[in-house]
Amino acid sequence: MSDVSELSSDNAVYKTLLESTKAIPWKIDWATMQFAYIGPQIEALLGWSQESWASANDWAQRIHPEDRDNVVNFCVAQSKAGVDHEADYRALTKENGYVWIRDVVHVVRNAQGEVESLIGFMFDISERKKTEEKLLVLQKELEALSFKDGLTGIANRRRFDTSLDLEWQNTRSSRLPLSLILFDVDFFKQFNDLYGHIAGDHCLTRIAQTLNLALAGPRDLVARYGGEEFIIMLPETDANGAQRVAERCQRLIEKLAIAHSQSPHGQRVTVSIGVGTVMPGDRLTTTDFIQGVDRQLYVAKQNGRNRIETLQIAS
Ligand code: GH3
Ligand code: MG
Ligand code: MG
Repeated sequence: MSDVSELSSDNAVYKTLLESTKAIPWKIDWATMQFAYIGPQIEALLGWSQESWASANDWAQRIHPEDRDNVVNFCVAQSKAGVDHEADYRALTKENGYVWIRDVVHVVRNAQGEVESLIGFMFDISERKKTEEKLLVLQKELEALSFKDGLTGIANRRRFDTSLDLEWQNTRSSRLPLSLILFDVDFFKQFNDLYGHIAGDHCLTRIAQTLNLALAGPRDLVARYGGEEFIIMLPETDANGAQRVAERCQRLIEKLAIAHSQSPHGQRVTVSIGVGTVMPGDRLTTTDFIQGVDRQLYVAKQNGRNRIETLQIAS
C-alpha cells in the first residue's frame, strides 16, 4: 500500500469517527474567520444545514441575544490570547427554538506561535441545563418552605428570627422605632380538651390568617412563635402605632367568635397580648427586647387574660 492511500484511508477513518460522535466537531480558519469544517450532526441538532455555517458570524448570529455579546467577546479574547476555553450558550434552532450548547475550543498555533485556527466540539447540554433549572426551582421551594409554618402557612420562628435581626440593624441606621406584639391564645389546652386537636389546629390557622389580615406595612411580619403563640413585628412603628395594631388584632379575633364554652370571656376564644417598642437609642439586645415583651404577655395573663399589656422601656 502506498503512503498516500494509507493517509487517505486514515483520513476516512478519522472522518467517520468525527461524524459519528455525539459531539459536533468544527474548525474555523483564524485569518479568514470562515468555517473550514463543521460536522453534519449539526443539522440534526439545530436544523441548520452543514453548508449554512460559512463564517464565524453565522455562529454568532445563532446565539441567543442574551448570551451573544458575552460569549463572542469571551471567545475572541481567549482565542487572541491563544488560550483554550469553553463557553455555554443557547444556540438558535431553525424552528426558532434554543438548545443549550457547551462549546469546547482548542486554539491551534503555527510554528511562529501565531493563531492559525480554532478547533472545537459542540456538546448538547440541554438535558443537564434542564436538570440544573429544576434543581434551582426545587431549591427555591425548599428555602420558602423552611421559612413557613407547616400548619398555618404564615412565617415560622426561623423566618421571624432572621427578619428581626435584619430589622434590628435597620433600626440602628434609620433611627426609627421598632415594635413587637406577642400573642398567646387563652385557655387553649382546655379548647383542645373540649373540641379535639383537629379543631384546635383549625382555630390556630384561623387566628394566624386573621393576624395576617391586620397588617398594613410592607415590612410588617406575622409569625407563629410557638404552639399557640404568635408574634407580629412592626418596623418603623412607634408605641402608639403598635397599640393600635394590637387593639385591631384583638377586635378581629373577637369577631371570629370561635366558641370556647369554658372561657370566662364571652365563651369565645380570646388572646392575651404583650406589646413593646424600642427606640434607636435604647441599649437592648433582641433577646432583652423579646423577653421584655414576653413578660408583658405574662402580666396580661396574670391580670385576667384577654387584655393588652405594654412594655415601658426606661431610656
Ligand atoms: P393560658 O391561658 O395560660 O395560655 O393557658 P393555655 O391552656 O392556653 O396554655 P398552655 O401552655 O397550658 O397550653 C397550650 C396548649 O396549646 C397545649 C398544647 O397542646 C396546645 N397546642 C400547642 N400547639 C398546638 C397545635 O399545633 N395544635 C393544637 N391543636 N394544639 C396545640
Ligand atoms: Mg403558650
Ligand atoms: Mg395559651
